[in-house]
Amino acid sequence: MSDFSMELNEDQLQVLRWVHDFAENVVRPAAHEWDEREETPWPIIEEAARIGLYSFDFVANCFADPTGLLFPLVNEELAWGDAGIALALLGSTLGVAGIVAAGTPEQVAEWAPRCFGHVGGIQLTALCVSEVDAGPDLGGMRTRAEYDAASDTWTLNGTKTWVTNGGIADIHLVAASAESDLDLGVGGQAFFIVPPKTPGLAMGRKFQKMGMRASHTAEVVLHDVTVPGRCLLGGKDRLDERIARAREVTDGNSSATTAAFEATRPAVAAQAVGIARAAYEYALDYAKQRKTFGRPIIERQAVAFKLADMRTRIDASRLLYMRAASMVMSGTALTAAEGSMAKLFAGETAVWVSEQAIQILGACGYSREYPVERWHRDSKAYTIFEGTSETQRLVIARAISGVDVQ
Ligand SMILES: Cc1cc2nc3c(=O)[nH]c(=O)nc-3n(C[C@H](O)[C@H](O)[C@H](O)COP(=O)(O)OP(=O)(O)OC[C@H]3O[C@@H](n4cnc5c(N)ncnc54)[C@H](O)[C@@H]3O)c2cc1C
Repeated sequence: MSDFSMELNEDQLQVLRWVHDFAENVVRPAAHEWDEREETPWPIIEEAARIGLYSFDFVANCFADPTGLLFPLVNEELAWGDAGIALALLGSTLGVAGIVAAGTPEQVAEWAPRCFGHVGGIQLTALCVSEVDAGPDLGGMRTRAEYDAASDTWTLNGTKTWVTNGGIADIHLVAASAESDLDLGVGGQAFFIVPPKTPGLAMGRKFQKMGMRASHTAEVVLHDVTVPGRCLLGGKDRLDERIARAREVTDGNSSATTAAFEATRPAVAAQAVGIARAAYEYALDYAKQRKTFGRPIIERQAVAFKLADMRTRIDASRLLYMRAASMVMSGTALTAAEGSMAKLFAGETAVWVSEQAIQILGACGYSREYPVERWHRDSKAYTIFEGTSETQRLVIARAISGVDVQ
């Protein structure tokens, strides 16, 4: 923590100006259309690929930033443009984070670049963890991976639900229990890469959502999906060791899946900050222009104090995610669950700020002709995915107390 600084260097600022420009001129103007269409915004992804923003090189460059701040800050800018489109652009990055967190260096080199493809051959990636009985409770996962030593292959069976890019992705990263003893819970789980066009993987139901509607979310059905042994992230020896450890101690919190989430929480928190900032800026401008009783409403404390609180909570959320991102990068153990604190506070701040913004706009805030109601709908996802607010509170409560709070 000693070298944590909020001062951004010229390289970081240059990248952020470039991303902001894309968010302002390409993403924001398209947001309403893709929210209404409820479809993956392919033209925006193609444009992002053309300028190099949707690419492995760009994400690798962000991940390589020694301060750890660049990637979450990029997330904030894109979500400021529109969170649904941002998730369509960043969904593949969730898969990359899973591969980086759980894969060997050889697997990272082989698969991470393929998560994005290239201009003219764009690829999408999906991270498939949730199941009907395994949302926050990862121990309830029922998707099974069975090993056949003779052919060195794994066969996956199960159904994943609520998967971003599910079924339309080229690469699916699937969390499954690789151990017949399902009571081992997360200790027996691993990630498997399902390469493009593998037989047996199909899209199930596509979800019709309240918000984040430019991002595709669907079930993924796996029926006898067979993948080579090299598709087990981390390799079989490492998995066998983890299973042996899990048999000795019941360590309900350590697995490939939980490791992937700890690393992505600051970036998800940053997306929530992007939504909140968009709503706050819009409400501030509106309050300066809208007059009632002959005076702009910003001159009323009832309105101005709301904006003061909105801005304060947004800045506090950003500080929390920057601290967590810096700690992930410096390898400082997240013993006090700083990633969870950032995700919890930023998600709830986005919901609260966007609701205040609706109030400041009055009836216009309730109209689909204005973007504020969309920001509110989008914000709600941030108290649910990547760990619900309740899950974050459990992680924090356990970390600060040392007690297995239930
Ligand atoms: C837009 C969107 C995109 C998503 N994308 C992905 C994706 O790409 N990949 C993926 O794998 N998943 C994805 N998800 C799924 C998401 O991660 C889950 O919805 C989330 O984990 C919550 O699980 P659940 O919906 O089953 O809630 P439930 O488990 O049914 O929980 C219901 C409520 O009970 C609370 N609760 C549950 N257990 C406890 C407890 N022990 N203590 C206190 N409260 C508790 C929860 O916090 C919640 O409020 C996505 C979800 C959304 C909305």
